[in-house]
Amino acid sequence: MEKKLCKLANKEYLKNNMKEYLELVVNAAYVCGKCGRVAKEEKYLCKPKNIHK
Ligand SMILES: [Zn+2]
Repeated sequence: MEKKLCKLANKEYLKNNMKEYLELVVNAAYVCGKCGRVAKEEKYLCKPKNIHK
């Protein structure tokens, strides 16, 4: 299953999976250079960029 937050994080997903979503974004270390979402691992973003670099 593809797990890009960029694609997943729509209204429906958030409504049903808020807990799972929070686990992916808490302590986020990466931001998506394309859509601005954040995640703790780059594999969840379509254009990951390390926040701390
Ligand atoms: Zn993205």
